[in-house]
Amino acid sequence: MRKLLTPVIGLITLMCVTSCNQNEEAELTNETDAITVEQELQNQKRNCATDKALEDALLKDPSLKQRMDLIEQETRKFIEKQSSLPLAQREQVFTIPVVVHILHRNNAENLSNNLINSQIQVLNRDFNANNVELRNNRERVPRVFRNRVANIGVRFVLDRVIRVRTNRVFNSNPDGSLNQNMKFRNRGGSNPINTREFLNIWVCQTDALGFASFPGQNRRIDGVVVDTEAFGVTRNGAYGLGRTTTHEVGHYFNLRHVWGNRGGCGDDDLVGDTPNTNGPNYGCPAFPTRNCGSADMTMNYMDYTDDACMFMFTNGQRTRMRAVFNGFRSQLPM
Ligand SMILES: [Zn+2]
Repeated sequence: MRKLLTPVIGLITLMCVTSCNQNEEAELTNETDAITVEQELQNQKRNCATDKALEDALLKDPSLKQRMDLIEQETRKFIEKQSSLPLAQREQVFTIPVVVHILHRNNAENLSNNLINSQIQVLNRDFNANNVELRNNRERVPRVFRNRVANIGVRFVLDRVIRVRTNRVFNSNPDGSLNQNMKFRNRGGSNPINTREFLNIWVCQTDALGFASFPGQNRRIDGVVVDTEAFGVTRNGAYGLGRTTTHEVGHYFNLRHVWGNRGGCGDDDLVGDTPNTNGPNYGCPAFPTRNCGSADMTMNYMDYTDDACMFMFTNGQRTRMRAVFNGFRSQLPM
């Protein structure tokens, strides 16, 4: 559990040994070593590195901006014509084959098939509005958002699991760029299987909870990365219900964070029915949390709240995601 968004502040203890003579100089001892795992957990916050991945990719490949703008135009066209599509097309369920790469340094990190299957089950529940939080007439969803809850109509099928023993962790590079080595066999990772036709998910030790590639990015590294501790249903801590993967697959299907890419009330996620907000919410906020003049949808999978407190996509997000199956990810559904 090393995923710290905010650095742990070292405890500085003022030590006064034997008699506290006023002339005696106070001894400052940096007790960094004494920081316990519990303290780290208290400081732990969701940190998704997808926006960082995009920033890196735009620096490396200036033509990406143009490609993504084009995808955005196609998305807008799809949204405009969506309501006039035949019902069968509007309700079509897309089946997505998934390849899971398990990069492990030891047996504990070599996650079991049961755990991997629990993650696929979470994806299938979350993307089909079949998750437990939406039962009982969606009573956990604030009334104002209830009719925005969407069944995306995407089914995930585990195609194969690739297990690779490694001696690496895949933390960010010293220059601050994201480490993508988990996607290369010759760098301690695992090569993707045909990224046009398979959703590749790499599970490994990283310093982010996860990150994904937006549609348009380099096909060689296209897919989703999830930290070993945040994958599958372990019920451990704030990220033990598999929602990190739901969130990252949302990005992979072209969803932004609910606050947009940069944050601030002026930035937007390009979705009409998610309220405008200025940045992430953490933990499990009581409704309502108000920013930018309206109540935030903190229970949206594309916020930064705890797994137990994010449980819906919206109709606008649904249309946006389904648009990619008519464009950049058209070869993905089986
Ligand atoms: Zn994210």
